[in-house]
Amino acid sequence: MEFDTIAAISTPSGEGAIAIVRLSGPEAVAIADRLFRAPSAKALAEQASHTIHYGHIEDPATKETAEEVMVALMRAPKTFTREDVVEINCHGGIVSVNRVLSLALRAGARLAEPGEFTKRAFLNGRIDLSQAEAVMDLIRAKTDRAMDVALTQMEGRLSRLISSLRQALLESIAQMEVNIDYPEYDDVEEMTRPMMLEKAQWVQSEIAKLLQTSQQGKILREGLSTVIIGRPNVGKSSLLNSLVQENKAIVTEIAGTTRDIIEEYVNVRGVPLRLVDTAGIRETEDIVERIGVERSRKVLKEADLILYVLNYAEALTEEDLLLFEAVRDMNYIVVINKTDLPQQIDLDQVKELTSDKRLVTTSLIEEEGIDQLEEAIAELFFEGEIEAGDMTYVSNVRHISLLHQAHQTISDAISAAEMDVPVDMIQIDVTRTWEILGEIIGDTADDGLLNQLFSQFCLGK
Ligand code: GDP
Ligand code: ZN
Repeated sequence: MEFDTIAAISTPSGEGAIAIVRLSGPEAVAIADRLFRAPSAKALAEQASHTIHYGHIEDPATKETAEEVMVALMRAPKTFTREDVVEINCHGGIVSVNRVLSLALRAGARLAEPGEFTKRAFLNGRIDLSQAEAVMDLIRAKTDRAMDVALTQMEGRLSRLISSLRQALLESIAQMEVNIDYPEYDDVEEMTRPMMLEKAQWVQSEIAKLLQTSQQGKILREGLSTVIIGRPNVGKSSLLNSLVQENKAIVTEIAGTTRDIIEEYVNVRGVPLRLVDTAGIRETEDIVERIGVERSRKVLKEADLILYVLNYAEALTEEDLLLFEAVRDMNYIVVINKTDLPQQIDLDQVKELTSDKRLVTTSLIEEEGIDQLEEAIAELFFEGEIEAGDMTYVSNVRHISLLHQAHQTISDAISAAEMDVPVDMIQIDVTRTWEILGEIIGDTADDGLLNQLFSQFCLGK
């Protein structure tokens, strides 16, 4: 039996900092070689089976290094699927694993359906049906939760945008339909092309925009927006630096919307954080003073997580209490820093003020307590207490892959239209684009093209 090569994240996100992208199929090694660079420059294809290799994943398009990885190479037939299998171990948790998966899909792999590795193992005679069913049940239980998350996202902006793109395409298709039905009317033909082109070009540019944000930035931008606050001199900059140093920064020093806000992306135990620093934080200045009360309120309000730093060696001040007030209904972790110095803070009072919120003590200068803080962040996240505005991990990868396809088909339609190809030929590409976009928002077959054309334009009588 011949199969294509599939890829998926084979460790459920959220379980540990190491995540694996698994490739299986005849092209698994070749696809991995398109992305993988070993220090020895030796290709995986030249390596022996059942060996592990250290190296980097590189984006073939930009030649940029994306991730540091360990790659396990296992050739058929002694593998789970009885096909060639490559497992790319990413140390950067969900952000990094998603990037690697996106690259593998662009390099020629197809995103595996839930349970497809197991299905192959079964079809290739590696496991029997009852074993396969047991594994499938497990996977289904996991994907159901993922589906719930995905469905909630569907109501969001992406889905509205996709719907409007599809509507434009549908109008083009209807127009072309008229054209095909009445070929003798030249004026219809004359109207069709420019209108169709204009709509198709708009759709193409919107898809390109979406891809632009999703390709490199989107997943990263979806990190939890995290703001470090506290009075001057309590150790905010030190905390930021510790988090950045301990956790390889994914992207450093990305200028935000304005020059006075700097963002650092770090990965804390698989949780992507977008640490929002303000110009003031670095220069031992008060965030409120520096960027103004309004601005800082806005930064606070948009934060998914707040790290509120207090000084262990000083009594609580009026300003501390104001900050407690400001963060009251938000997700925050109180970090009591400078425990190497004599205690002045009233811990009972702090505990009372934080109620059930998490509290961590640190001495950043002695590098103590950072582990506990990271633990607290990961717990908050994986227990679902923090909800990022726009988390679209795995389904995002699926979206990206579909958007690439849609971009291709609509570009085909545009070049066909520009080359005077007959309208009914162009219509095929436009319809295909409409269908692919439909897959992103989960439009079902029942609700297909013909129905929508019938209901909206009463065509085909
Ligand atoms: P920020 O103004 O809140 O950003 O505070 P900084 O991070 O700039 O730190 C202010 C001062 O406190 C610096 O001199 C730091 O070296 C010092 N500091 C930071 N953390 C600790 C700590 O845990 N113990 C002690 N003793 N000093 C610290
Ligand atoms: Zn500072």
